[in-house]
Amino acid sequence: MAKAKNNTLKLNFDTKWGYSPAPESKSIAKIEAKYDLFINGKFEKPLSKKYFDTINPATEEKLSEVADANAADVDKAVKAARIAYNNVWGKMPAKERAKYIYRIARMIQERAREFAVIESLDGGKPIRESRDIDVPVAANHFFYYAGWADKLQYAFPNRNPKPLGVAGQIIPWNFPLLMAAWKIAPALATGNTVVLKPAETTPLTALKLAEIIQESELPAGVVNIITGAGATGAAIVNHSDINKIAFTGSTDVGKIIQRAVAGTNKKITLELGGKAANIIFDDAPIDQAVEGIINGIYFNQGHVCCAGSRLFVQESVFDEVIRKLKDRLETLIVGDPLDKNTDIGAINSKQQMETIHKYLKIGEKEGAEMYQSNCPLPKKGYFIRPTLFTNVAQSSRIVQEEIFGPVLTVQTFRTDDEVIEKANNTPFGLSAGVWTDKGSKIFNLTTKMRAGVVWANTYNKFDPTSPFGGYKESGFGREGGLHGLSAYLNVH
Ligand code: NAP
Ligand code: MG
Repeated sequence: MAKAKNNTLKLNFDTKWGYSPAPESKSIAKIEAKYDLFINGKFEKPLSKKYFDTINPATEEKLSEVADANAADVDKAVKAARIAYNNVWGKMPAKERAKYIYRIARMIQERAREFAVIESLDGGKPIRESRDIDVPVAANHFFYYAGWADKLQYAFPNRNPKPLGVAGQIIPWNFPLLMAAWKIAPALATGNTVVLKPAETTPLTALKLAEIIQESELPAGVVNIITGAGATGAAIVNHSDINKIAFTGSTDVGKIIQRAVAGTNKKITLELGGKAANIIFDDAPIDQAVEGIINGIYFNQGHVCCAGSRLFVQESVFDEVIRKLKDRLETLIVGDPLDKNTDIGAINSKQQMETIHKYLKIGEKEGAEMYQSNCPLPKKGYFIRPTLFTNVAQSSRIVQEEIFGPVLTVQTFRTDDEVIEKANNTPFGLSAGVWTDKGSKIFNLTTKMRAGVVWANTYNKFDPTSPFGGYKESGFGREGGLHGLSAYLNVH
């Protein structure tokens, strides 16, 4: 250990006191050289005849190539889903449906290590997160919704709940397997069939899930997984035989999708961007709060829609909080996602890294003061040091716009009313956090925050039983919990 200037203990990774590398073995990850589309229970060559590469963002090496589905491939997948809905899944007794969903959950658990390694290889997130969060929470979603499948009459008493039909589902790259689970599990439990498209940069765990689905003997066509880029997503959105679109991604694409389905009979849920406020009052347990703030923004490289990217600190504890945050920043380990010591892995893509760099420049131009940790960065791959900005204005672009990277802005406040007004003053409303010792403050703030999820004295906790979703430009509809069922049902 070396002593930092301010006399607190600091890890110095250039000395023999740094942690030794503890990489997870890659040998468990079976990645094929090429993946086709999973349609009607089989892996099929794309009609487009095209493939694209998926890379490891930590090394820039190619991992595999995957099919690029065109509109004809989408049509084939939707037809398979429609036939499976009409002939098998829609008619199957709910308790039988539940058994398949339960089996998928068990199989994810059995292959948890392989899923975790592939998630970290393809997307860049630290193995600790994919192992402890992404994969177990994904399995839990299947378990949870398996339990609801034969209890829909109890969930919606006297409402005669009926499935919608075929669901088109489009997901982003920040939680690839988890988002697939959030989408597929409730759709199956409610009797719908599915066409799902993972993001271009992170298709592999969805394709691994397709392998599990095949092994689970889920009837052919109930779940179809097709890979591709934005055009494939658009072809799903515009397909005339889809009854429901479930989208998680950026607000810009969400708006395009909303326009595209306007005037059709498609039901739609949109889970979009965020710019969450994390608020520390002076009576909060400061060390715990600092840990929560760090987890809130630097977790998963800040690639989290609900990341606590705007910190509000009550004026009287500002100096203490900033000092502790900076000290903690210095101890964060940035590097190999497969290393079990790593706190911050690789930025998901070159494009996203450039976006984050663009915002760092904007912040400096706006007159904000930037602080970055001094940790060494790997020579190859896409990495960014954890960053915080002080001296920002409410109107700063770095305060108003979603950066989707490990970048925190810090503002101060004096009163509850002031912080509520500032916290609500963005186009988004997905999540927020409050740190205080006073229950009354928690109740006051949580009722006035225009955010779908408000965590109190904790942050970034996910559970299948609790609904998740946004206000304003963060979208509409809820996923998770009982609310997540109604998004896939007609309840009249
Ligand atoms: P994105 O660019 O909007 O992409 C999301 C998905 O939509 C991807 O599969 C993408 O394909 C596809 N897509 C792109 N253009 C499309 C179009 N015109 N029509 C239909 N589909 C299209 O978002 P992202 O960059 O992957 O993800 C980051 C965003 O997701 C952030 O804004 C984040 O806040 C948000 N997010 C929200 C939640 C939530 O629950 N609210 C959760 C996670 C992430 P390609 O990958 O090939 O472009
Ligand atoms: Mg990749």
